[in-house]
Amino acid sequence: MGHGAAGACNHIVLRYARMVAAHPWIAARAVDHRCVGLRSVASNSFAGVQLLLVGSQKALLIDTGAVADPAKMPLAQTILSLLPLKNGGRLPLLIVHTHRHRDHYAGDIQFASAPDVQIVAPDLAAVRAFFQFDHWPEGVAHLDVGDRMVDVIPTPGHEAAHIAFYDERTALLLSGDLLLPGRLTLEDTAADGKSVARVIEFLAGRPLAHILGGHIERDAAGRTYAQGSTYHPNERALELSRQDLLTLPVALSTFNGFYASHENYSITHPMHNLLLLLFAVFALVAMIVFACRRWWKRRRQHG
Ligand SMILES: [Zn+2]
Ligand SMILES: [Zn+2]
Repeated sequence: MGHGAAGACNHIVLRYARMVAAHPWIAARAVDHRCVGLRSVASNSFAGVQLLLVGSQKALLIDTGAVADPAKMPLAQTILSLLPLKNGGRLPLLIVHTHRHRDHYAGDIQFASAPDVQIVAPDLAAVRAFFQFDHWPEGVAHLDVGDRMVDVIPTPGHEAAHIAFYDERTALLLSGDLLLPGRLTLEDTAADGKSVARVIEFLAGRPLAHILGGHIERDAAGRTYAQGSTYHPNERALELSRQDLLTLPVALSTFNGFYASHENYSITHPMHNLLLLLFAVFALVAMIVFACRRWWKRRRQHG
């Protein structure tokens, strides 16, 4: 890979991804202030990843995590303290989100009164307007933060306003909940398949250091942690590869609609599973009612 910023960032990401927190939060920073990853395992079960990309004109924070209370996870304080100075003040901060799930934007509130902070709301209308996606979900937006270009790719499927980010400086793809080492939960399977194809096409011919998703939900042996677990012993690394992305189209096209496990991720469709559960409960109740009626009938016939 051979780039200083990328090396520092990946080192940090690797290091904190493997840490199991005994502390309420984990914060990490790269030596050169260019690419910083933050994460909190102990304060919330989502243990989401937030990434700060620093340009010469502004800094870009992607996702603000699941914790609104700064006493539990001092995200704003930490991020603002990492920003380099420029013209006697801090570098302006732009906050964007991979998608509109609360575990990715709950920390926004911590930045509410901070000066020089712009927050793009995570809903589809705001995302489309800010990045000027005229043909959503087609097209790629280019965000220039000063000597650093970040490409933004529409990736609905997990959630309708999902976007992925490609940092040209580090060749990192920040894939949010589209692709992560754990559960890929689908809201719209067809849209997700198209999004994956879009990302594969975008990355063709471009360098790719790693794919960094929004969560780590598996241990080093490939076992998925229980849902809601705040204890992640022996976590695997966050990084996924181009190969993991390239296996996704087949994994999605052969998906049975409920659950499938693959080498570095599993695929689930929560709504389908809920409907299946409701159907099973309904069938069970119907069987019990039928059995009771038969028993009652027999009793009356013999009594
Ligand atoms: Zn999500
Ligand atoms: Zn998430």
